[in-house]
Amino acid sequence: MPELRHDALTGRLVLLAPSRAGRPNTTPPPLAGGDRGGDAGGGCPFCTGHEHETPPELARTGDGIPDGPGWRVRVVPNLYPIVGGLGAGPGATGAHEVVVLSPDHARAFGALDEDQATEVLGVLRDRARVHAQAGRAHVQVLLNHGRGAGASIAHPHAQLLALDFIPPTVAVAVERFASTGSDLVLDDQAEAIDAGTGVVVGDEVRAWCPVGSASPFEVRIAALAGGANLESATDGQILGTAVVLRDVLRALGGALGDPPYNVVVHNASATPPSAGGDPAFHWWLEVVPRIAVVAGFELGTGVLVNTVDPEVAAGRLRELLATRNG
Ligand SMILES: [Zn+2]
Repeated sequence: MPELRHDALTGRLVLLAPSRAGRPNTTPPPLAGGDRGGDAGGGCPFCTGHEHETPPELARTGDGIPDGPGWRVRVVPNLYPIVGGLGAGPGATGAHEVVVLSPDHARAFGALDEDQATEVLGVLRDRARVHAQAGRAHVQVLLNHGRGAGASIAHPHAQLLALDFIPPTVAVAVERFASTGSDLVLDDQAEAIDAGTGVVVGDEVRAWCPVGSASPFEVRIAALAGGANLESATDGQILGTAVVLRDVLRALGGALGDPPYNVVVHNASATPPSAGGDPAFHWWLEVVPRIAVVAGFELGTGVLVNTVDPEVAAGRLRELLATRNG
């Protein structure tokens, strides 16, 4: 039976309708699982030896000299920026960066070892700090994996956008925290664990399928002691969060067969130094496998339809995590 659920963290309404997963489907399937565009790395600008094909690099970890090989994680400006660049109009100024996860063309975040995963998330935090300290209004960090999730270059990479305006969705999210006077992220994970939809229930970092999951196998991850934004994360929080994210992405691969996915950092706006402290917010990660399509009903009503019960999704992910760890 369909069920209407309210997701207090995002404010959205979700119709949980598991029976629709079994409806007949006579259209061709969407882009296959982790279809990343079919290239094998021959002409890839993010592979080692092709450093000259990107704009001059902004940062790296590892060895070697800028724009040469030897790096482990490499940061370059996006050649096709959403914001920033020469001639950007008012409001469209800012910066758009690419963070190449590793020199390995085929190694997605879920296949990184613990040190690599931690290094990548640490670089993203450090770049976010650079832009917050430069006075940008908001820093958005994301990772699109697979063509079905919006990735246009197959080589695994994350992106960072530093904006000179505060996106309305972010302003509303921060206002929602302030108006409830509660930590909605902690409330959400507690509700999930009560409902049996916890996935990784550690002392420091947790992962869970929200009770109000808007799409199949949606996962949220947060450090319990996390601050208002990624910029504030300690090295310990970066390590714990990176490993849980890696494990969750691996388990999603096991459950769904290398699906396309988005990883989104939900951050409060960068706090200007004069504003006197962080806003009431708790940064968290959203992981959304792109195995369902937002269609007409969702566009018309803003109410999302989910055909996989989060209890079922969380149970499957826990099973896969236990198998791998055991
Ligand atoms: Zn490559």
